[in-house]
Amino acid sequence: MRISLLVTAMLVALALAVGAQAKEAPMTSQHPIAIVIHGGAGTITKESMTPELEREYRAALTQALKAGYAVLEDGGRAVDAVQAAIMVMEDSPLFNAGRGAVFTRGGLNQLDASIMNGATLEAGAVAAVQHVRHPIKLAWTVMSESPHVMLVGEGAENFAWAHGFPYTPASWFYTERRWKSHIEGLKTLKSTSAGTPAKIPGAKAYVYDTVGAVALDRDGHIAAGTSTGGLTNKLDGRVGDSPIIGAGTYANDATCGASGTGTGELFIRLNLTKSISDLMAMKGWSLEKAANYMIHDRLVELGGKNTGGVIALDAEGHIVAPFNTPGMYRGWIGTDGELTVKFYKDR
Ligand code: ASP
Repeated sequence: MRISLLVTAMLVALALAVGAQAKEAPMTSQHPIAIVIHGGAGTITKESMTPELEREYRAALTQALKAGYAVLEDGGRAVDAVQAAIMVMEDSPLFNAGRGAVFTRGGLNQLDASIMNGATLEAGAVAAVQHVRHPIKLAWTVMSESPHVMLVGEGAENFAWAHGFPYTPASWFYTERRWKSHIEGLKTLKSTSAGTPAKIPGAKAYVYDTVGAVALDRDGHIAAGTSTGGLTNKLDGRVGDSPIIGAGTYANDATCGASGTGTGELFIRLNLTKSISDLMAMKGWSLEKAANYMIHDRLVELGGKNTGGVIALDAEGHIVAPFNTPGMYRGWIGTDGELTVKFYKDR
């Protein structure tokens, strides 16, 4: 009798201890999580879309958001969530990144990507790669496994083979509609023109179609990444803003993470994403004020009216997505866990 009482008491004590631990466990990682993505800004209007295309874009953006958010929910790092979300969009022929990338003037798919970890300010980037299915993964690997920030062309690809990336043939990236835009564009091209945004399939609209993601993890760390095929009929070897840290991609836990889409040359000259961070750090501006200023004031002043947008989030999980084009493919899962996907000005 006494022994059974003792055993019961021990079991009760054990149960209480386990209960206390179970209650405490979530306390260790309570930082709110959030993710925001874009699939490019441009002349995206209700009139320029079909219901079928809307469905396809919505499905692809939702899949990318869920892939990134799953990493965050599992307690994974923001930088890995960004990679996961972007890899989904790189595999979708809808976007100008990975499969479905636009063609250069010489008929090549030359891909750019970058990623930045706001916790450490480590960054990785690749430019003008032609045989890597997931350029964002290669950028991640440059960041994590090389002493460098950026590798380009053949050197970047040799680094990829050395790190076990499979060779992806050019045919993987080919889509008929991007090839058509390339051929159509060549007819009207002036030798000095910089290249144009991609065309929405089956519609009269132009869209930059680059993809990007910014995430906030359970440890309060921010990361950002961007991946693109660049501009249709860009000169072979041209590098845009997407792989340039501070231009198309930037992340710093102390301020924000941001990823841009638009005419890369302007984003490079404005150091656009880093400028948002600087305005917050040096002037004490809110994320919203800083991002709006760069897109609606500075970009426009430099001739970038109707050319671009940015997605960004701060350490508290505030999300902004300003653009000065009619639309931008974008979506987020905020700190409330709600998933939102939008294309047009208010929708
Ligand atoms: N920013 C990209 C570039 O200039 C294009 C885009 O956003 O689609 O390469």
